[in-house]
Amino acid sequence: MYCPFCNACETKVTDSRLVADGQQIRRRRECLTCGERFTTYEAPELILPRIIKREGVREDFNEEKLRSGMLRALEKRPVSMDAVEASLRRIIQKLRASGEREISSQILGEWVMEELRQLDDVAYVRFASVYRSFQDINAFLEELKKLEKQTKLKGSKA
Ligand SMILES: [Zn+2]
Repeated sequence: MYCPFCNACETKVTDSRLVADGQQIRRRRECLTCGERFTTYEAPELILPRIIKREGVREDFNEEKLRSGMLRALEKRPVSMDAVEASLRRIIQKLRASGEREISSQILGEWVMEELRQLDDVAYVRFASVYRSFQDINAFLEELKKLEKQTKLKGSKA
């Protein structure tokens, strides 16, 4: 693998370990020319179901797009990148486990919301309000009520 700093082609693996519950291999590499170190992640590329959007348009699942959508919802929230990546892994695993060739974007959205709800309430509401584009204000208020109840429960435990 070429060095991303000097483009030399001789790099050496100094460490390699399983991460993301064994779904990825993380490798530390060192360039034999400039001495810079960098990290690579390796994961098997398996075919994921395609996503059916609301208008019936099909598109390939795009991990990068999903990640940036989640990060947008999590902007300025106290959630670690590790936690976000773990959520992303779980969602992708569900996609894979579905065994479907196509899956609706609504189902995917529900999974994302489930994960965000675990990560951070504010991010969840942000995502849900954009994603579901709440058809009426009552649906939105219902969600808020549910959240308030949960927060109260959490609070009383502490
Ligand atoms: Zn180099």
